[in-house]
Amino acid sequence: PKYQSAALIIGITGIVGNSLAEILPLSDTPGGPWKVYGVARRPRPDWNADHPIEYIQCDISDPEQTINKLSNLNDVTHLFYVTWANKETEKENSEINGKMFKNVLDVVIPNCGKLQHVSLQTGRKHYLGPYELYGKVAGHDPPFHEELPRLDAPNFYYILEDILFEGVKLKEGLTWSVHRPGVIFGFSPYSMMNILGTLCVYATICKHEGVPFKFPGTKEAWENYSDSSDADLIAEQHIWAAVEPYAKNEAFNISNGDVFKWKHFWKVLSEQFEVDNGGFDESAGKTSMVETMKDKAAVWDEIVREKGLVPTKLEDVGVWWFVDTILGNECQLDTMNKSKEHGFFGFRNSKSSLISWIDKMRGYKIVP
Ligand code: NDP
Repeated sequence: PKYQSAALIIGITGIVGNSLAEILPLSDTPGGPWKVYGVARRPRPDWNADHPIEYIQCDISDPEQTINKLSNLNDVTHLFYVTWANKETEKENSEINGKMFKNVLDVVIPNCGKLQHVSLQTGRKHYLGPYELYGKVAGHDPPFHEELPRLDAPNFYYILEDILFEGVKLKEGLTWSVHRPGVIFGFSPYSMMNILGTLCVYATICKHEGVPFKFPGTKEAWENYSDSSDADLIAEQHIWAAVEPYAKNEAFNISNGDVFKWKHFWKVLSEQFEVDNGGFDESAGKTSMVETMKDKAAVWDEIVREKGLVPTKLEDVGVWWFVDTILGNECQLDTMNKSKEHGFFGFRNSKSSLISWIDKMRGYKIVP
């Protein structure tokens, strides 16, 4: 086919990268037909292999590799940046993430004459501050909207934005958009933060061991309103911003548009995995998943063998620190008003989203 646009997705096997890889090549996707290039470090996994894209193995933290692998992609019109590196401190996060993004822009901006738009994904920590400062720095008062000023605290998202703003100046007419999801519901056994995948693995281990599936978080997280951001919906917003003139040079929150309570979703998860719902134990309070799960690697290997699952390592599919962080804190909501005012009306029913991602993980035999 004659392509209208060519996308370069950095983080093609990630939680949103995999959704972009699936949606962009579809015949009815706005801006299409799309040619799609996708970058990640590891070899292409089977669960990503059906998407009609060109897979490029490249470590973007290495400037030479980035030049070698990406400088010949001269037809790219749109860059979708959906990756990051997770270090101990926000200082280190700022250094490495800034370097990675800059490595890519330094190659793509001068070499892709037709480059029109750069779409950067950050997140709600823009308003909350980095994990290491949770509870130490005062975040904004939710619901968060895009016009709130930056917090006076280090944040690698601010570094990425500044690199973006500098980068687009280098090419006449080049536009940008920033996308800020909350907790993402999606599919990716390679994601550094996949709450649903991790909870499915946790439920599976509880079922296997014949113990109740207990909520490890706080009372606030159990009882109060939470929200989520469906990975396909985020991909739709990226694509909308890439093609819609009215969306250019703006930052947008992206969440499903409804709220839920974990106590209700815990019941859904328990039913889905046919495990005894242990609920929230008020006397025990918050527990540490990192602690509870630290010796379970062999148990997971056994489940994988027994159930004929696609081989995965527990350290990849069980992101325990992330569950501890998200369910250990009350969810702080955002607002989708700006997105709607600019013409993006996408939404998801979070319960349907939850169930559809579980179905997908089952379909690909990541969980039983
Ligand atoms: P994921 O962790 O899901 O995916 C990362 C992707 O990037 C993978 O494909 C990974 O594959 C690839 N990758 C990682 N390092 C490199 C590298 N050095 N070179 C090339 N490819 C690399 O990403 P997310 O979508 O979660 O993260 C994108 C942004 O979204 C981040 O800023 C994050 O903070 C934000 N966000 C995420 C949320 C979530 O729930 N996941 C919630 C809110 C915001 P491989 O490892 O094989 O290289």
